[in-house]
Amino acid sequence: MEIKKGIPVSPGVAICPAVVMDAETVRVPRRTVAHADLPQQHDRLEDAFHRARGEIEQLRDQVSVDLGPEPAKIFGFHLGMLADQSLSSQVHSLIDHEAVTAEFALSTVMRNIAKTFLQQPNALFRERVADVWDLERRMLKHLLAEVRHEAEHLIQDAVLIAHDLTPSQTASLDKKHVRGLATDLGGRTSHTAIVARALGIPAVVGLEDASGSVSAGDTVIIDGNRGVLIIDPDQQQIEEYRRYVERFRQFELTLSSVIGLPAVTRDNQDIKLLGNIEFPDEITTAFDKGAAGIGLYRTEFLFLSEEIEPNEQQQYQAFKHAVELAEDRPLTIRTLDLGADKWTQTRIEEPERNPFLGCRSIRLCLQDLTMFKTHLRAILRASAHGKIKVMFPLITTMMELRQARMILNDVMEDLDEQGVPFDRSIPVGIMVEVPSSALMAKVYAREVDFFSIGTNDLIQYTLAVDRANERVASLYSPAHPAVLTLIKDVIRAAKRRNIDITCCGEMAGEIEYVPLLIGMGLRELSMTPQAIPEVKRLVRSLSVKQCEKIARRAASYDSERQVHNYLRSEVQKMLPEAFDGRTIG
Ligand code: PEP
Ligand code: MG
Repeated sequence: MEIKKGIPVSPGVAICPAVVMDAETVRVPRRTVAHADLPQQHDRLEDAFHRARGEIEQLRDQVSVDLGPEPAKIFGFHLGMLADQSLSSQVHSLIDHEAVTAEFALSTVMRNIAKTFLQQPNALFRERVADVWDLERRMLKHLLAEVRHEAEHLIQDAVLIAHDLTPSQTASLDKKHVRGLATDLGGRTSHTAIVARALGIPAVVGLEDASGSVSAGDTVIIDGNRGVLIIDPDQQQIEEYRRYVERFRQFELTLSSVIGLPAVTRDNQDIKLLGNIEFPDEITTAFDKGAAGIGLYRTEFLFLSEEIEPNEQQQYQAFKHAVELAEDRPLTIRTLDLGADKWTQTRIEEPERNPFLGCRSIRLCLQDLTMFKTHLRAILRASAHGKIKVMFPLITTMMELRQARMILNDVMEDLDEQGVPFDRSIPVGIMVEVPSSALMAKVYAREVDFFSIGTNDLIQYTLAVDRANERVASLYSPAHPAVLTLIKDVIRAAKRRNIDITCCGEMAGEIEYVPLLIGMGLRELSMTPQAIPEVKRLVRSLSVKQCEKIARRAASYDSERQVHNYLRSEVQKMLPEAFDGRTIG
């Protein structure tokens, strides 16, 4: 038995055999296989050789047509290595002698070759090392794609262990059989964690080396409440966890009784609880959980879940479907927030040095007007079918906001000329998710209909902490006094101009922070739908007066730890069962 501690990002517990997904970009861990499975490893290896050869020959022929026969010769080295019998026999014999997976054997042999080349006095050999790496990656891609395919088409319940997962990989997992997720990388508000929460799968991230410690088929426990991964648990642990799962289930059952009740405080203040979604079909789940509308629709997932970017008609169909599902409840569509950790297959270009500070989100849209206009046309066309609000993400300068609005107006004019119906008075808002817009909120409030505070990014940019990096996760805190000051200023600016204001970062769905946000003046919170029942239960047990007192007291502390401990202890008094349901033992 081995216990690993990570970051809990999606509640619940799973006890299941593991499927392990390795990555071609990091060292493939040594995994042994049963002797009976060795022939399968040999077949997999041969298949990978065959596919890589086919791919390189195709590339060579293409280059030969495009650039001529001379440049095409650069592929001669790759093809020569693939044809070299001694290479393949070295890998095959390693599989047999050490009873390891094809990917581990291949990676070991290729690394040895690269090492030998590097030690050669002749520069020609050293220059070839990059080609050896390239060939290794190409073959690993084929070997690992099989496991990926297996994870997407599971035939029985399993938990998935991976070095890292992209948000689109997480979204395309087999929802019927994936019972839990554990990754080496990631932070609490990484988009992979957000998708896991939306899918309602227990998840732990930031485990550092989990993927190297688990072998396919090992039984593991993923405890998404405490952030623990237990590899090969003993019978006593399993029994203890089964009892815990039952208690947690009972607690969740008690929550279902509040779903149909209004989210109103003890002193009769309505609090609008909205859902955050990535796909239109989640709207039904959000309403089943008691959402009063959709406060954030992350439209970029439409792009992330397909190999090819969706055209105007496909986007329009998705948005129309969403607005129809929303019926007469509000639906806030956020314009594309691609980039940083959210890349499409067709847009993976030269990696940026600081992707979270790079060409992401609205910046990317303003550089690719064809894509942006197509997207806006689809949103506007869908607005003819129901109540839609449109929201621009990551606004950092007034120029960006004005430019985005101007493009929206251009698209409206085009639609008008073509006689296409849309909502002419569609509310336009921005996400306040960088310090520059929080500090300038007073000015922005004059130009928009609403604000939505995106605390996931606001925290990252205020505290200079990458939200997806497990190594600095302990520094990422919504309770930091600087973050609270910015949130307070944004709320004040919105109230002064009498514009709507919501918070749609993960913080809005974390019970520790709900009284604080209400006490600071928020009356609308948008969160992952799974969190709504618990938050509603809390809202119904508190008063605004009490929350205001909590917010005042929280503002008097100068460290995030004090703030967090204080908030936690207050909420524990209000809703003790929420904490009891999560303690094991
Ligand atoms: C945020 O940044 O708080 C937010 C809600 O947007 P996302 O998590 O998609 O970046
Ligand atoms: Mg954001």
